[in-house]
This record gives sequence, structure tokens and C-alpha cells, in this order.
Amino acid sequence: MIEQPPVVTGIPAGLTVRGLDREQTPVVDWLCTCRLHERATGRAAVQQLLARARAGVCPHRAAA
Ligand SMILES: [Zn+2]
Repeated sequence: MIEQPPVVTGIPAGLTVRGLDREQTPVVDWLCTCRLHERATGRAAVQQLLARARAGVCPHRAAA
């Protein structure tokens, strides 16, 4: 038996950015290293999420 890691359907690990064209609302999907998934919609939210994700540090475990 080979144990396989969980896979989030349709969302590759890491960052996925969509809708950066002017006429569209940008959407970012982020699959963190802790497997927690976040989605940001709208230009301001996308910028904030990108900044957190690019830091390379999981912000979820530091909440305690
Ligand atoms: Zn995380």
C-alpha cells in the first residue's frame, strides 16, 4: 500500500492567480504548506494574500 497525500481537486499546491485582466476581478487561490486553502477575491485582498504567501511562512500555525 502506498500512502498518498491529500489532493485538493483542481487546485495545485502553491499559488494560483486568475483574472488579472482589467475587466475581471482577480482571484488568488493559495494552498499553504500546512494544506490549508485560502482564496482571495478582489484586487486589495489579492495583494494581501500574495504578500503573505510569498513570505514563505505558514501564518496559520502561529495563531496560538
Ligand atoms: Zn498554513
